[in-house]
Amino acid sequence: MPLPPDLSKPIFALMPHLADRIMQGLCTYCSLGLDEFRDELSAKEYSISGMCQSCQDKTFGVNEEELEEGAPW
Ligand SMILES: [Zn+2]
Repeated sequence: MPLPPDLSKPIFALMPHLADRIMQGLCTYCSLGLDEFRDELSAKEYSISGMCQSCQDKTFGVNEEELEEGAPW
């Protein structure tokens, strides 16, 4: 599991409910439990924003090349 975001950041003082979610191992955005992260980049993004994989996909878009790689043909 990647490292959670640094709770000493000013954003968590301003938005303590986000810090609560991180401490509970939840996504800061959708407040659902965390999924597996697809790759190191996604894990790193979690350490910054606290967003789960599916929220990252929605926010940043899914890399189309990676999707094609996963296709069964
Ligand atoms: Zn989420």
